[in-house]
Amino acid sequence: MNIEPYKQVLTKYWGFTSFRPLQQEIIASVAEGKDTLGLMPTGGGKSLTYQVPAIVMEGICLVITPLIALMKDQVNRLNSLEIKSMAIHSGISPEEIDIALDNCIYGDYKFLYISPERLSTRLFQARLPRLNLNLVAVDEAHCISQWGYDFRPSYLKIASIRELIPEKVPFLALTASATPAVIEDIMTRLEFREKNVLRTSFERKNISYLVRKAEDKGTYLIKTLHKVNGSGIVYVRSRKKSKEIAELLVSNGISADFYHAGLPIELRDKKHTSWTGGETRVIVATNAFGMGIDKAEVRFVIHWDMPDSIEEYFQESGRAGRDNKQSYAVLLYSPSDKSRLEESLRRKFPPVEKIKDVYEALCNYLNVPQGAGKDNVFDFNMADFVSKYRLPVIETYNSLSFLQREGYVEFTEEINNPSRVHFIVGRDDLYKFQVANESFDGFIKLLLRSYTGMFSEFVAVNEDTLARKSALTRDNIYRFLVKLSSLNIIKYIPGKKTSLVIFTEERLERKALMISAENYLQVREKYILRLNRMIDYADYNTKCRSVTLLDYFGEEADRCGVCDVCRERNELDLSKYEFDLILDEIKEVLTGRKADAQELVTKVGHPEDKVIKVLRWLLDHNKIVIDDKHLLSWREADLFSR
Ligand code: ADP
Ligand code: MG
Repeated sequence: MNIEPYKQVLTKYWGFTSFRPLQQEIIASVAEGKDTLGLMPTGGGKSLTYQVPAIVMEGICLVITPLIALMKDQVNRLNSLEIKSMAIHSGISPEEIDIALDNCIYGDYKFLYISPERLSTRLFQARLPRLNLNLVAVDEAHCISQWGYDFRPSYLKIASIRELIPEKVPFLALTASATPAVIEDIMTRLEFREKNVLRTSFERKNISYLVRKAEDKGTYLIKTLHKVNGSGIVYVRSRKKSKEIAELLVSNGISADFYHAGLPIELRDKKHTSWTGGETRVIVATNAFGMGIDKAEVRFVIHWDMPDSIEEYFQESGRAGRDNKQSYAVLLYSPSDKSRLEESLRRKFPPVEKIKDVYEALCNYLNVPQGAGKDNVFDFNMADFVSKYRLPVIETYNSLSFLQREGYVEFTEEINNPSRVHFIVGRDDLYKFQVANESFDGFIKLLLRSYTGMFSEFVAVNEDTLARKSALTRDNIYRFLVKLSSLNIIKYIPGKKTSLVIFTEERLERKALMISAENYLQVREKYILRLNRMIDYADYNTKCRSVTLLDYFGEEADRCGVCDVCRERNELDLSKYEFDLILDEIKEVLTGRKADAQELVTKVGHPEDKVIKVLRWLLDHNKIVIDDKHLLSWREADLFSR
């Protein structure tokens, strides 16, 4: 394949001179029309692997991606490069979707972004066969797998669009997070014509992974932040804690701020920008802080609390060191964390009856009668909902997550939609209207001067900007828009900030709501499995951290030499190779039986001093225990409820 046209596009639009590792291979695979699964860590440059070939090829690229904020961001970016792009998600009205799809069929659009729950709507399915598709890109493809940590049932519907489009259109699935089981699942569920995985290594050589056992995490954190330089993130699991810890840091002379999803969008943006710009050194955040972080010089990511899975840990800690300079990923761990995790497990899986209560309350809150509601979109204010129905916040949240995982409803993140205007009369009729209604003439001219494209589509407008440009107040502007709308000259959709709930099925009666015990237990089982792997990561201190993480993603790697395990081992003055050999032999001797130190040294065929070094290290790290008869035994990790 000739890569030149693709390189030209890369340079012409993005100004980059060469492809990153794997980008070229993925592009070549797609250009040959093959279904492709591309695995690259976050920040690796996945977007360009569908954007570049789609620009070179004739036709339009359909991009499926779950987060509306990121979708809007991508569309804005492409449009600013004069690559015509469009987004369809639950935050826009059916009318807008209608117009958008027509524009995609008849216009020269190159990218149509769509959120997965909109795929199965009639409106979309009816138009899909007429789109001249060149590629279907599935971003965050791990969402299709029930084995993954972020399963979304609407992803399961992606494959069904194959029936509506030409067979030759390839699918490109992309993710930064896939275990071997998830990789298989992605290809099966997207009905790949042939298995085809392209991956880069997930190894992050410039990150030192450290696990710090600390009873007093606050003291440790303050000490560390005084010692290390640069900017970073501290991840916590609760909103309250994010504030408390930020305050603790500030009172100890460390520049810090907090961030969580409960704060208004503007404030979140402001905090994010201050951190990116370097005015705030440390941001203490819940996992809501993650979307769209593109700061390269992050020196440390410290987890005060453990995430629920290695996928999440890898993703979050991987925000360190994008500039390829030495960085730290630290997990703080105290024995009491386990009881917190047990508690969180209990709350994560409310009893089935409670989940049903929440479902009924939700339907009543939104006035959805039985048998109705399918594909309906509602504004949703969680705080208002729980207070009206006097529901416990976390349990309710988890019940809703469960209902989402089961495919009854979907929730979006809070989205910030600008106001939109579309002229529904043609230019000639508008002119006649202006002549006949002089009082509107000035305002219409202002609109037409300020924005273009309003005759063919909905265009984002800003009432404040219009007010500033004219002698009018914001309120005047708003009234003009409403009036023009009621006169059927324009369609006006006032902007708003809200989260949405989408009914993916009609409302069911309580007893028809199927939450089978089997399914419930299975979901819980998978969750515990992932959680236990995460706990293992923190508990085991005999295996290189980097090797442990990569192993989880099915990748073999060498010892990193810079994690806490490797460092301690370096101090033993044994080669990694020697250490491993001795460790394996000790483990073999102690598997399923006890032995005293003398017997062990005799049985392991290595010099006594070296065996003792390894043995001492294993004892220090709680890998081996001694009973009161001085017998040694290999200690299995004491995890809960396996
Ligand atoms: P991912 O989706 O894998 O997390 P993105 O597609 O968002 O990553 O890309 C991350 C960053 O890398 C972006 O800022 C992008 O412009 C940049 N990038 C991607 N490809 C290249 C390239 N070939 N050369 C230089 N920068 C690139
Ligand atoms: Mg991406």
